Amino acid sequence: DGGSGGDADREKKKLGEARKSDTSESERHQNHDVNVLRKASRHAYLGKRVEKICKYVLGHCKMAEVEYRQLRHTKELCEIVKKQLEKNDQSHFNGYVMPECYDAGGSVNQRKRFGASLKHCGGEDSRYEPNLWEEQQVKKASLKFGSQDRKRSEDKYPVIPGDQIELVRGAIVFEENMPSHESATAACSKLHSLEEYRRLLPIFGYKDKLLQAVHDYQVLIIVGETGSGKTTQIPQYLHEAGYTRRGKIGCAQPRRVAAMSVAARVAQEMQVKLGQEVGYSIRFEDCTSKKTVLKYMTDGMLLREFLSEPDLSSYSVLIIDEAHDRTLSTDILFGLLKDLACFRPDLKLLVSSATLDALKFSDYFDSAPIFNIPGRRHHVEIQYTIAPEADYLTASVVTVLQVHITQEPGDILVFLTGQEEIEAAEEQLRHRTKELGSNIAELVIHPIYANLPTEKQAKIFEPTPKGARKVVLATNIAETSVTIDGIKYVIDSGFCKMKSYNPRTGMDALQVTSVSKASAKQRAGRAGRTGPGKCFRLYTAYNYQHELSEDTIPEMQRSDLANVVLTLKTLGINDMIKFDFMDPPSADSLVKALELLYSLGALNCKGDLTKIGRRMSELPLDPMLSKMIVASEKYKCSEEIITIAAMLSVGSSIFYRPKGKDMLADAARARFHEGNIGDHIGLLMVYNEWRSCGYGVSWCCENYVQYRCMKRSRDIRDQLERLLEMVEIHKTSSLNDLEAMKKAVTSGFFPHVARLQKGGSYKTIRHQQSVHIHPSSSLAQSFPKPEWVAYHELVLTSQEYMRQETEIKPEWLLEIAPHYYQFIN
Ligand code: ADP
Ligand code: MG
Repeated sequence: DGGSGGDADREKKKLGEARKSDTSESERHQNHDVNVLRKASRHAYLGKRVEKICKYVLGHCKMAEVEYRQLRHTKELCEIVKKQLEKNDQSHFNGYVMPECYDAGGSVNQRKRFGASLKHCGGEDSRYEPNLWEEQQVKKASLKFGSQDRKRSEDKYPVIPGDQIELVRGAIVFEENMPSHESATAACSKLHSLEEYRRLLPIFGYKDKLLQAVHDYQVLIIVGETGSGKTTQIPQYLHEAGYTRRGKIGCAQPRRVAAMSVAARVAQEMQVKLGQEVGYSIRFEDCTSKKTVLKYMTDGMLLREFLSEPDLSSYSVLIIDEAHDRTLSTDILFGLLKDLACFRPDLKLLVSSATLDALKFSDYFDSAPIFNIPGRRHHVEIQYTIAPEADYLTASVVTVLQVHITQEPGDILVFLTGQEEIEAAEEQLRHRTKELGSNIAELVIHPIYANLPTEKQAKIFEPTPKGARKVVLATNIAETSVTIDGIKYVIDSGFCKMKSYNPRTGMDALQVTSVSKASAKQRAGRAGRTGPGKCFRLYTAYNYQHELSEDTIPEMQRSDLANVVLTLKTLGINDMIKFDFMDPPSADSLVKALELLYSLGALNCKGDLTKIGRRMSELPLDPMLSKMIVASEKYKCSEEIITIAAMLSVGSSIFYRPKGKDMLADAARARFHEGNIGDHIGLLMVYNEWRSCGYGVSWCCENYVQYRCMKRSRDIRDQLERLLEMVEIHKTSSLNDLEAMKKAVTSGFFPHVARLQKGGSYKTIRHQQSVHIHPSSSLAQSFPKPEWVAYHELVLTSQEYMRQETEIKPEWLLEIAPHYYQFIN
């Protein structure tokens, strides 16, 4: 195993060749640029207007980066121009002044982009055109940034020391120290061969050392800047080195989108069909085959594999990627894998992270060595708003346009919180760019979020057309999981959607929350991957300093743990308190989870797993949904209940209301609400009608139903149908027995029951909390209002709403969950 001598030599040779071709490419560009600059200085001698000369230089220089040795020529140019200026009467001069900064030998400014330097060349003097123009632009826009109005912001908020993007520990990131990387990235976009691209990734130079380290140690922590090639390259290196001869390489990702897009990329790089040698596995979708040796999957899926294969014997290497994300599943995997590593000395375990938490990981894994991949990170200038922004969505749209108009070429990445917001931003941007028409260059807009169809996800990686600028509107998916090349500007709303456990309601809720400082730094870092960049934070420096928390709290400490506890119980881990958590959850939340599982019948009074619990754990759903399915056997309606479960699993956006057609859409929707059947059975009706029309697209269009949601629920349903067999639940149908179906729903959701109050609102039974029927619910219009309802979940918008409700009878509660309801009358 590991890199044998011959391999290493070959690799070195390849590396040498790569460097050679790379230098010759960049050398050609450099020579070209030097000629441009020489010509420019001749023009300067001849007394041409400096402004024109600068334009000429900018327009003709090929390299994105004008490097130090070329600056010598620029310096010549400066001196020539200066002399020329001395001769002329300066007061008549109305062009650019060459930057003083070039004179200070070795200063940071010398390394600045040529274009950027030109911008600065007016210094503090606003007589000069660029300043005037910028000022005007800023005035036009309603939002003011710190640096576009630099002086003012600096008066108010001195630059925060240490706020500049910190260097990765041990990394050498000064540009002059990494000339090959510099020119490499500049040339990247022009490369055609993926093979060449792979060689240019920072990780490539460390391949041999990495393979040696994997060979020498069982557990290795790998730290590297996002985009350095950890996720796409390490599995390939290990495969090439022969690690797949005796087992698969599994790479666990916290995010679905990342698992899919990275697998697609790696398949492309290895020139194989996705699903063959390289595949992915996410909940409800398995794109692997017998041939698969590199398997990308969500951490949740790897956790499920533990259930069927407790020693994971089909794997030779496991990579826990994006470990800094600290999702629930990742945290449990840590505990399980740490344990497994003792039993399987042949198993290699790699934990990869984009941040400096590495020491913590290393400590946890008994001082495992840390392998650091020095990344390229360039200077990112951070700018804050002067005053807090009330509406960060509009602010980010305005900022995009402002950057587009005032800043030099480079793509923009905007961080928002979720799908709805991204769609709204996209619409606003399209609208506004239409208004501006041909006054601005083309703006190519791409959204990216977890539920985006795969074809559309791939779009964000497409190169930006010439003369246009790309804007990617993303959730925090783009923070570390996916890397988009060419981003130079980051706009950070300062918010993200985060799951948080609400002790008041006793359940998880996705809520918009402020990001942590660690997140904000990661986001800013995205701008400095291929060159110096800028990050516009839509909050003030004061907010950043005083209001953001240092780190994101691990999910383990802010989630409902029912599912975790069920999984651990199924794995035979009975004593939760003794489980080796990296950051243990509170005893309180563990107790709550145990209580819920007990009331659902998954655990007996001793806390041991019951048969119901074992069946529930086979289903990849939340415990209440699993219980609903398990209970459907008793009510002889499993066919219907798995449809309902599938429809509930795709989320809230099944129906849509296009602008101008909202009445038609509402009418179409009302059809599925007739007869007070409730939302659960309403969803069943939608699915069954779609099925009877041959699962078509046109039916969806006619009924204002999202086709992709339906398609997804069909996939989920198919999987659940297969799982029914595994847990030995007979497929039975009782389509006309609404009560049976409602009882099955109640069997899972009796902890989510609310009762009508005098004022017309509802109160939950479990927590005595005031809640309302969601306006989109079929029960919203019903009169009189049902006294008892079971709901799927609570959502907090303007007030606390129940989503997806069905009317139930109180006597069912006593029948189904007497232990839970015996005291209620
Ligand atoms: P890391 O895991 O260290 O963050 P990756 O291995 O994900 O880095 O990415 C390495 C490079 O591969 C990045 O420059 C990125 O742009 C590119 N890349 C990754 N996924 C894709 C994809 N689906 N399409 C195109 N390029 C991709
Ligand atoms: Mg990665």
